[in-house]
Amino acid sequence: MDVRWPLRRIVNFMRITVIGSGHVGLVSGACFAELGHDVILVDNDPAKYEALQRGECPIHEKYLPELFQRHHGTKLEFSKSLAASVDKSEAIFIAVGTPPAINGEADLSFVESVAREIATSIKDYKIVVGKSTVPVYTSEWVRKVMLLNGAPANLFDVASNPEFLREGTAVSDFLYPDRIVIGTDNKACAERLRLIYEPLLDGSYYQRPDSLLPHKRAQAPPPLIVTTAKSAELIKYASNAFLAMKISFINAVATICESVGADVDQVRKGIGSDARIGGQFLNPGLGYGGSCFPKDLSAYRAVARECGYDFRLLEEVVRINNEQRERFLRKVRSVLWTLKGKRLAVLGLAFKGGTDDIRESPAISVVRSLLGEGCKIQAYDPAAADNARELLGTGNIRYATSAMEAARDADALLVLTDWEEFRTIDLDRLRELLRYPIVIDGRNIFSPATMAEHGFTYTSVGRGDVYHDASGGQKSPVAAKKSADPQPDVDAVKTP
Ligand code: NAD
Repeated sequence: MDVRWPLRRIVNFMRITVIGSGHVGLVSGACFAELGHDVILVDNDPAKYEALQRGECPIHEKYLPELFQRHHGTKLEFSKSLAASVDKSEAIFIAVGTPPAINGEADLSFVESVAREIATSIKDYKIVVGKSTVPVYTSEWVRKVMLLNGAPANLFDVASNPEFLREGTAVSDFLYPDRIVIGTDNKACAERLRLIYEPLLDGSYYQRPDSLLPHKRAQAPPPLIVTTAKSAELIKYASNAFLAMKISFINAVATICESVGADVDQVRKGIGSDARIGGQFLNPGLGYGGSCFPKDLSAYRAVARECGYDFRLLEEVVRINNEQRERFLRKVRSVLWTLKGKRLAVLGLAFKGGTDDIRESPAISVVRSLLGEGCKIQAYDPAAADNARELLGTGNIRYATSAMEAARDADALLVLTDWEEFRTIDLDRLRELLRYPIVIDGRNIFSPATMAEHGFTYTSVGRGDVYHDASGGQKSPVAAKKSADPQPDVDAVKTP
């Protein structure tokens, strides 16, 4: 038995510090508490710390408030002092941001500064675990920085434990993961990390009568993948790059569908039913955004460049993704003709449904372009309006408190984020409220046939457009001949 490891570990739970209380840190910390561990969440943002102390959840994330209610003040504590928290803990998770530097590489200065601080606080054995998404070799650098700053080599081990949660479904992703990856070159350290996740790995958490999401209990426990630290770091970047590639791939297919009059829904069903491909992440639309894919692709390319490999495939993935926003704006112009002075209802500002995160949001980018072209925007987002207001201000943009309020008297409605609640809005009421019954759907949340039935002119991505004949009332889906190329098919263009 390793004397550095407390005996209580065999029968009990662990004391964990998570540094960084952002999307990953908060969710990981709350979920570790849910698994039975004693968790201290550390953040150096005083406003965030105060809000957390008061029991406020600073991000919109399903089930996180429930976890706060269960564990706040008992198994889940908050601290501003990294040193004091490290002192009380056996495992330290680093979950600070790794934003993009100007040259596209990941900026690891937050990780380095945290590693320095941990080093100067260590008095007994700890495992230091990277949860942030970082380039290969970061675990090695963390170890070197800690040694340079006086941490005795026998008092710590460093591991990588990449996080695969998705904003919007983060708690569920954490507690019911597809896999858990542990990257370390030290067997004993891997075993300690395994123990932290044991309630998930042996399925005992799912059997607990109070486990969150009981409807998912039947799910098999996740596999544990133990790798070297370098492999774990690469697994995370490669996974994100592959997912982004799937999104750009289906967007490219959608463009062909528009040109030839095929239906991307039928095509993606045909592609996705192949078990080797799978149907997830084959949703055409405005493209990916958020705080991860754009920066991780750029950092992954930088890693490849440093290794002497030009990962050109990723360049194309990014180019297709950026093009989707341009193509969408061309669609808006081709349906509405001129934009200056048009009043547009916008549904969705977050980078995806289920979150209030607007970092790198395609919706924000489209709204900015429309404002730049002189449009007046009436926007509704179930969670991201406050964040958007801070970024976009209030000039020529009004933030509605419901989809219907946003739609009132607008010349057209644009769907920019895939919130579930948008799928069930009352289409008849929507049609009454809009000045013209025009919907341009950047997320394919409605079906063309339904929109035809409800009397809309409807344009989406990779599917046939629907034109509402305002003169005679005949409403029928029309096979899409029109692509969103710079020259619109003038026969197809109807202007309000
Ligand atoms: P975030 O920006 O939401 O949160 C980071 C937090 O770290 C902030 O609250 C910040 O105040 C805090 N922080 C920074 N320096 C600190 C310090 N020295 N001491 C204490 N706190 C400090 O970031 P995030 O979205 O949670 O992402 C964190 C990491 O996880 C990133 O590397 C990201 O790529 C990765 N990741 C993110 C997601 C996601 O969906 N957001 C998913 C998987 C992985």
